[in-house]
Amino acid sequence: MDPAKTFQSLIQIEGIVQGVGFRPFVTRTARRHGITGTVQNAQGAVRIEAFGSREALEAFTAALGEEKPAPSHIARLTHRILALDGEERIPESFRILPSREEEGGLVMPSPDLAVCGDCLREMGDPSDPRYRNPFISCTHCGPRFSILSAIPYDRPNTSMADFSLCPLCQREYIEVENRRFHAQTVCCNACGPRLFWAGRGREPRREGEEALARAVQTLASGGIVAVKGIGGYHLAVDATNGRGVQALREAKGREAKPFAVMFRDMDALLAHCQATQAQRALLESPARPIVLLPRRASAIVPQVWGASPDLGAFLPYTPLQHLLLAQLPPLVMTSLNRSSLPIVSRDGEALAFMEEHPQVAGTLLHDRPILNPQDDSVMQFVREKATFLRRGRGYVPLGIPVKPGRALALGAQEKSVFTLTGGGYAYPSTEMGDLDTLENVAQYQETLKAMGGILGLGPRRVAYDPHPGYATGAIAAALPGPKVPVYHHHAHIASVMGEHGLADPVIGVAFDGTGFGEDGSIWGGEFLIADRKRFRRAAHLKPVWLLGGDASVRKSSLTAACYRYDAGLAQGLDPLLARALESRVNGIFSSSMGRLFDGVSSLLGICHASTYGGQCAIELNYAAQAFAQEGGEAEPLPYEIHKAGQVDFAPGIRALLARLEGGESPASLAYAFHLAVAGMVRKVCLGLRGETGIDAVCLSGGVFLNRLLTEKIILLLEGEGFRVYHNEAVPAGDGGISFGQAVVALESAEEEAICASRFPES
Ligand code: ZN
Ligand code: FE
Repeated sequence: MDPAKTFQSLIQIEGIVQGVGFRPFVTRTARRHGITGTVQNAQGAVRIEAFGSREALEAFTAALGEEKPAPSHIARLTHRILALDGEERIPESFRILPSREEEGGLVMPSPDLAVCGDCLREMGDPSDPRYRNPFISCTHCGPRFSILSAIPYDRPNTSMADFSLCPLCQREYIEVENRRFHAQTVCCNACGPRLFWAGRGREPRREGEEALARAVQTLASGGIVAVKGIGGYHLAVDATNGRGVQALREAKGREAKPFAVMFRDMDALLAHCQATQAQRALLESPARPIVLLPRRASAIVPQVWGASPDLGAFLPYTPLQHLLLAQLPPLVMTSLNRSSLPIVSRDGEALAFMEEHPQVAGTLLHDRPILNPQDDSVMQFVREKATFLRRGRGYVPLGIPVKPGRALALGAQEKSVFTLTGGGYAYPSTEMGDLDTLENVAQYQETLKAMGGILGLGPRRVAYDPHPGYATGAIAAALPGPKVPVYHHHAHIASVMGEHGLADPVIGVAFDGTGFGEDGSIWGGEFLIADRKRFRRAAHLKPVWLLGGDASVRKSSLTAACYRYDAGLAQGLDPLLARALESRVNGIFSSSMGRLFDGVSSLLGICHASTYGGQCAIELNYAAQAFAQEGGEAEPLPYEIHKAGQVDFAPGIRALLARLEGGESPASLAYAFHLAVAGMVRKVCLGLRGETGIDAVCLSGGVFLNRLLTEKIILLLEGEGFRVYHNEAVPAGDGGISFGQAVVALESAEEEAICASRFPES
């Protein structure tokens, strides 16, 4: 290199740049452009020192952005070119330096990545040293976050640390031109994790191909097998076998909630569901989420989908799943857990589950530990935009851009998720179930410790929901740092504002089942005027006296009686119940939209009791969606808007029962109810715009997981010239609460946080 024409370039790249083959890619690209120097992982970023001509350096930098590996993501690239002063030694080659650990960097470990096409080709090639290897991976694919114990992402910091490399893998690991150069998960048939079959009773343990064959044989005959995956164990069964699926429902204690189905490949999937181009791209993305799709008539048995017009479909993402499905019909693949407890990720627990459940014929396991358990992500498209029902494997721990600052937001009681922030990003954790069991609280604390350790972001402000009954209140109290209480529905709206970078006040429509309101009552049908710091309750559903307790939340027939009573239809109610409602014992005032959905569902005879969270409301949605899909039309139900912004659905309840008696179908009335709610939102938003001049509307809360309702509302509001935003990066349900809390916490200054912490704490 001619020193006179040589310049030095310092490049820093932030984003998903660790564990996706980024340093090898940089090395190859540098060599192609005749660049010398070094590349290094430094905390979350990649740092490059490059030497070459000005033209070569510019071409090299451009190539980094344009040709980056598919699973990587560049959040920020900074570079500067310096002239050499003649003193520097110009390196003769380009090489990778050992990772550097330091404070303050931006940390973004990669989520788990589905096995790539190149690895699948090798897995199918009898002459390849990784022929039929269930753990094949490369720099572009394989487990990442689920096997990570610390950053930087290097083999000793993963659960691959205990597997030593054989000579072949070692050679590939250090060959720059090899596609496993620096692949931390590299292994082959001679080294690395092994597959086992554990059957029931005295059946001998089997290994490798024998274990796989035994699992295939069991599944082919309708048996249930526990299969170790990336984020935890699945229970698998033939989705075309009614008796098998029924047995799976018994084993899981899951009566009605639809199951997801994994298909061998896209052709198999399309034979059973419809999918648009965008849906197919999402299904085939490295995250491989479950996507809700319209079903086609097929051999999949109705026990799989229950009342849903959709089917949750996904594609294999581990080499093992490919090996299994190559020989089998579509499989129900559902997380292995005991009812409402976390997904099972430890082998001992999976084997114990099998012992206790005679429906499970065997367990297909391996000896690579899962360090960060996660469920599969579940998504649906709302007006062509992919949205989350559950954000887990494949997405955690991706960061969402927010303003800089350190916060820890603890989330809600249900679908618990916490969010850590730092370096301009928010990192929501995986979803961990409701915090009303000791096991779930323990898992929450463990995950907090693990993820806090991995991200290492130091002391922080702690945001929490001031609901006096939430476990997160006690967790917050035990943590150091100033506390920021964030009201539930403000957090929902702030989650949308944070995602879409909205700073000016918005009209927030927060509809959900339950949340603690400023006045100490239960909210859930709220119109807020909000920015990221403050909110005021501008309108809401009229509070209705609902009989209290968990039992009445699940038993929508009780909720229905409360709405009947409120609508002046006490005649015909059980006299005991009527008296309880009259004397207002053991109940709460609630403005919840979710509960209204529950009540209407029961009044229409669609669902009287939920066996899983939100079932009655969800099945009301299913009935309306099926009715609409068949081209049905209905007259919306009436409602009244009182002064002081109270929306009263009592007239709607009266009309609903009268029309039902008059012979209108429950499905038509379900649809009429959806139309009424959508029309009401339009009317209230128009009123609030008139009052405030605000034309941005944010929709959030679990009710907006209802696709039919959300799409109707967006259509009506956009028709009136509103800008409408909804959740895309986090779920609209309580899984998105902690992200919203974090957005509020980052906004409030220290002093305010301290002052706000004087709110009553639990
Ligand atoms: Zn690969
Ligand atoms: Fe909520």
